[in-house]
Amino acid sequence: MPKKIAVVTGSAGFLGSHLCDKLIEKGYKVIGLDNFITGKLENIRHLLKSKNFSFLKHNITKYIDIKGRVDYVLHFASPASPEDYLEHPIPTLKAGSLGTHNALGLAKEKKAKFMLASTSEVYGDPLVHPQPESYWGNVNSIGVRGCYDESKRFAEAITMAYHRVHKIDTRIVRIFNTYGPRIRINDGRVIPNFIYQALDHKPLTVYGKGSQTRSFCYYSDLIEGIFRLMNFRINTPLNLGNPDEFTILELARLVLRLTNAKDKIIFKPLPLDDPKQRRPDITQAKRLLKWHPKIKLREGLKETIAWFRLHS
Ligand code: UDP
Repeated sequence: MPKKIAVVTGSAGFLGSHLCDKLIEKGYKVIGLDNFITGKLENIRHLLKSKNFSFLKHNITKYIDIKGRVDYVLHFASPASPEDYLEHPIPTLKAGSLGTHNALGLAKEKKAKFMLASTSEVYGDPLVHPQPESYWGNVNSIGVRGCYDESKRFAEAITMAYHRVHKIDTRIVRIFNTYGPRIRINDGRVIPNFIYQALDHKPLTVYGKGSQTRSFCYYSDLIEGIFRLMNFRINTPLNLGNPDEFTILELARLVLRLTNAKDKIIFKPLPLDDPKQRRPDITQAKRLLKWHPKIKLREGLKETIAWFRLHS
């Protein structure tokens, strides 16, 4: 049987590159696209030698021209860290809007299945906790995070429209906070920031009082969930993430312990519109995909710290 062919946008990113690895391991051929706005060549260098991987440097806000058969379009291109999208609000809005339109157009042309990498940010600063897929969210559309939240909300809307109008077999995965090897050390997200600071003998910067919560999923659990979702027919959004919830202060203390750092914690102002709580309700993913995250935060942090020690 000929190998299935998947196009992955954002293939040089943290999650995009791990997804390419998974697909190749599972016998797919992968065509990766990235414009390196936040992705890194380092993340895919090992794949460039593979006969099952080809790469195009391309900005997905422009028309995507791929020759030959395509079975799957997986749209993972977008800045995803608050610092990145605050620095690049317009490319972020364009990746979610024009980029999703182009990626859907490619799926339609090739009669391919389509997956959108969406986000827990569609729930904004949630008033329902934990967040089930049925929750419509609490988003400040004109706030500083609006560029990301609204681009992904638009991306979900156009994906559902292509499913309803053009009958494309679509998936929408709402990804909650994820971490692990290849996350950019300077991307501003809390886990790389804390590990970098601890290893560099700097105090850990906790924003606000650190009482806000997040639930962190190790990349390998998430990628396994995404792979299962590709092969399961559900066209409405599905949450994937780890429901173990921690305050940011608890996370800081854990990173200090695991790095044996003597350094302290300093408190900085809470960024605008920073969600106070976040935890996925993964009842649906458990039931439909027979999936649940296996890696505990402590274990995943140890792996990530070891990786940072080698790569920073
Ligand atoms: N945060 C922090 N110190 C940092 C970076 C982030 O206290 O150096 C906090 C941030 O205010 C937020 C949480 O950690 O409450 C998670 O932030 P992140 O940027 O990882 O992603 P978010 O979940 O907000 O999209």
